Order: sequence, then structure tokens, then C-alpha cells
Amino acid sequence: MDVTLIDAARAAAPGMVTLRRAIHAEPELGLHTPLTRDKVRAALAHLPLDWREGPSTTGLVATLKGGAGTGRSVLLRGDMDALPMPEETGLDFASRMPGVMHACGHDAHVAMLAGAAELLCARADLLKGEVRFMFQPGEEGWHGARFMLDDGLLGGGAHGPLPDAAFALHVMPNAPHGLIAGRAGPLLAAADQIEIVVEGRGGHASMPHQTLDPVPVACEIVTALQSLVTRRFDAHDPVVVTISRIEAGSAHNVIPDRATLKGTMRALSPEHRKRLRESIRQLAGGIAAAHGLRADVTILEGFPVTVCDPAAVAFGEGVAREMFGEAAFHRLEAPIMGAEDFAYVLEKVPGAMFFLGVSHKGDDWQNCCGIHSTKMMVDESVMPQGAALLAGLAERFLERGFG
Ligand SMILES: [Zn+2]
Ligand SMILES: [Zn+2]
Repeated sequence: MDVTLIDAARAAAPGMVTLRRAIHAEPELGLHTPLTRDKVRAALAHLPLDWREGPSTTGLVATLKGGAGTGRSVLLRGDMDALPMPEETGLDFASRMPGVMHACGHDAHVAMLAGAAELLCARADLLKGEVRFMFQPGEEGWHGARFMLDDGLLGGGAHGPLPDAAFALHVMPNAPHGLIAGRAGPLLAAADQIEIVVEGRGGHASMPHQTLDPVPVACEIVTALQSLVTRRFDAHDPVVVTISRIEAGSAHNVIPDRATLKGTMRALSPEHRKRLRESIRQLAGGIAAAHGLRADVTILEGFPVTVCDPAAVAFGEGVAREMFGEAAFHRLEAPIMGAEDFAYVLEKVPGAMFFLGVSHKGDDWQNCCGIHSTKMMVDESVMPQGAALLAGLAERFLERGFG
């Protein structure tokens, strides 16, 4: 056990809790999170960090140069944005912004990353190489990580090469207290939004033969999409299609002109993602045409597959077990069909994302409210562990790489 790092993290806990609660109470959406950025800058102002930010987002990268010479570089990432949803936790530091909530735990991610910065700055003399702390807005569908990459904030341009490794943690309320989990290869899915508009010709509901009714055609498309998933795609490289919204019509005796279907598609490989997009277009267009109607398919690009480098995962598993004991790490058997824009970083830099269980000790974690729930809670007593793990990953990677 790395007693020093864990003890230091415990000592830094009050600061992390204060920062997390301040961010929780003032959640922000999207690519511009100035209040959160200012809180991060203020909390870390006393540390010897070089800061860079802008121009596309309020994302920040703080660089710590180790005192033991040049060597490798490692990036640690925490996302900063919240979700457009009400909060119903009843906490005394609950959101003061109506309709905005930190329901994905990004407030805790920022606090743990700030904690890791504190820990690593205190040991900077021992570090060979540099650590980049990435505070990123716009994770919840806004492609914040891609903007920060394109702005060159992570490296790969004027700021030198990209880092040699990248790590991130994501809290999980539906996991045992303090458990760290991950897997090599695909961890999270690629996610794209689907919109299918079936264009027909409306009229009186008693005379459907004089119309081109889009409603039964839309229903046929919804059903056929499920056959598409099970009949055309290998179950060992799974895809998911969910139509979550159907809009059509205005009265019981009116056939509408059009019906709109909205939903999501998920895939775990770029090949299946591409083929699923093509198949949805072909299927919707074909079914509509068979009935003499037209279907316009729009696919809004979401995040790519989050792929964890096997060497980085094995390294992270070793660090987690070394620091917190053999039982601290769990290898996930299967990917999760959620999506995450840290995927963009992992497309360019070998690394891994790990989950951290933040249920309260003794809670029925299988049935507690998960991320994106109005009642989602984080047990703050796990945050020192997260900060120590991030710091431990960075320190050991600079010492010995993934080996
Ligand atoms: Zn989320
Ligand atoms: Zn999240």
C-alpha cells in the first residue's frame, strides 16, 4: 500500500469536499462552464502549475513539470459539465440552478482531479516527466474533449507532443463502495442520434385510401429495426437501436402528413457503427418506398467507441491492487452501451478509463439511483481514494511506463 499517497489524499479530503459541493450547487451545461473553471483555478491557484485554455471552450489544461528531469508525460482528465434536469436529492448543497444538476458525478471528477493535482505537486521533486491535468467541459453530448484536442490544449502542436498516456475515472453509484473496475478493449459504445421522418399525405381518418398514412409505416420501421439488430449483426459485436420517441398526428379523425421517429444507435466497433448507419437508412427508405411514401433519415454524430489500451488497463489494475488491496479491482466482462467523449482522447493516446464505486457503505448498490437520476448521490468518502488512484497512476507511469 502506498501509505503516503493515501494518507495525503485523506488529508486533502476536506478541500475536495468543499470544491465538489461548491460545483454541485452551481452546475453548468455545455462547452462553457466559466463558474466551474473559476472555482478550479481558485482552488489550485497556490500550486506550481502552468495553465492553458481556450479558445473554443472553457476547458483548462494545467501542467506540472516534475523536478527529477524530463521523461514521459501523462494526462489525467476530469469532466466539468452537468445535465439539463431537475435535482431531487434533498441535499443542503443541492443545485441552485433550476433544471440543471450534476447527476453524472462530474463535480466529484473535478474534485478528485484537483485532489490529485494537490498530491502530485507535493511530490513534484520526485517526478520524472510531466503531468497534464485536463479539466474538460461539454462531456454530456457536446464533444468537449474533441474541441480541446482540436484546440491543441492536450499537445500535438504548439504545446509539444501529445501525452504518452491518458487516464480518467468515472464514478458509479451502482457499484460497491470503493470498487475500481475496467476492461481492456471497448469499454463504452459509440452513440449516434437517429431521426427518421416518414413523409406521407394526410387526410380524413375514415378515408385512408385517399391518403398516404405515415403512421403504420413508421410502426413497421420501428419493428423492423429490431429485426435488423438481431438478424443482420453478429451478436458477438453487439449493436443497440432504440426508438425512444414517436411523434405524429393531432386528432383522432385526422391522418397526419408525417410521422417522426427519434432514438439512439449504439455500436462497439467502427465497422458496425458504419454498417448500422447504412442499414438504418436502407431499411427505413425501403419500407417507406414499399408503401409509396418517403423516409428521410438523419443521423447526428455522437461519440466514438471508448477503447481502453490493454497495456494501460493491466497497468491500472496493478496500480489499483497495489494501492488498495487485491479485492479493489474488478474486471468487467462486457462493455457498457453508454458513451463517453474521453473516447476522442483514447483514439489518439493510449490509456484507460476506470469506474469507481461511490455507493455508501452498506447500501443496496444494485438498486440505488444510478447516474443521470434526479436522486443520484456520491459518497464523498470515496473521493480521496479516487484522487490517490489518479495520482498513483500518473506517478507510476512516469516511473516505469505501462511495464
Ligand atoms: Zn453523463
Ligand atoms: Zn459522465
